[in-house]
Amino acid sequence: MESLLGKTENELVEFAKVIGEAPFRGKQIYQAIYARRAMDIAGMTELSKDLREKLNSIARVTETQIVNAFFSVDGTRRYLLQLGDGREVEAVFMPEERRDTICISCQVGCAVGCGFCMTAQLGVKRSMTAGEIISQVVIVLNEVYGVGVEPPHGTNLVFMGMGEAFLNYNEVMKSIRIMADEKGMGISPKRVTVSTSGIIPRIYDFAREPFRPRLAISLSATTEEQRTRLMPINSKYTLAELMKACREYPLGERERLTFEYVMLDGVNDSDEDARRLVKLLNGIRAKVNLIPHNPAPELPYRASPMERILSFQKILVDKDVPAFIRRPRGQDISAACGQLAARRQANG
Ligand code: SF4
Repeated sequence: MESLLGKTENELVEFAKVIGEAPFRGKQIYQAIYARRAMDIAGMTELSKDLREKLNSIARVTETQIVNAFFSVDGTRRYLLQLGDGREVEAVFMPEERRDTICISCQVGCAVGCGFCMTAQLGVKRSMTAGEIISQVVIVLNEVYGVGVEPPHGTNLVFMGMGEAFLNYNEVMKSIRIMADEKGMGISPKRVTVSTSGIIPRIYDFAREPFRPRLAISLSATTEEQRTRLMPINSKYTLAELMKACREYPLGERERLTFEYVMLDGVNDSDEDARRLVKLLNGIRAKVNLIPHNPAPELPYRASPMERILSFQKILVDKDVPAFIRRPRGQDISAACGQLAARRQANG
């Protein structure tokens, strides 16, 4: 079955021609799936009945389906989604007063192997297609607001779910370009943040993109040795090279490079670590997100106590490095990202 979601407008026009239809039919399908977020071909009444029947026999809007949904008291919704081949990924909706954020996945599992991450326990099964990546956003928006209903205060997207975005670079960028189109979903790249564990060649590629979303670097350590232990990718792309790439990264006028730092009790959360972090970020227009670790029985680390996180933050702020403590979201519905999918896989 052909999936329609993930095709550009031109690709849908071509698709219409290939199945013997007029090119404008491709544009109508584009409008239906991206602007109206229609999931059901039968409901696309702008298409003739014959065309709908023909399409239904050869294509689907998407094969992604919700397997399970979990609702937190804080409004966070966590979705376990099944892709066409039965693999499962997670997407999370986080409402906030002035904006909503959807955290999406870009790979089934992850090859990077960060020691504090549940997704790492899965290894990487495969990368997701642009259509599968977009399907998470369409499904979550339709679930939360209703099919085609405009989100009241826009949508922020963060590629911080399962997978390393820069190991699936082309499909991630294709999905971002499609979602940015004003005629379709209209999610500006300014509202999109892509996080990487530090795949340095792709950071340079990303810097040259004409429609560049925000970039976040998952850092979580301040020495080579400590980072290699926590994030084995560091033995290939070292901290020194990573910081060089960050220093050379061309920031927009009011843009800051975000550094994510997972706080692990007694591992990377000392005052000395904070002082080293200040030094590492010297000369970079940076902002730091301190992320309280979400412990899980499968992971060997404990969360830093809040007074430790506050003391770490103070050292950064006193040296004029903006540092924010990320509010833990949806703790009652499962904590660490990747936990749902990893556990389900472990259980068979
Ligand atoms: S933290 Fe991100 S990059 Fe690291 S293993 Fe988990 S999903 Fe992969």
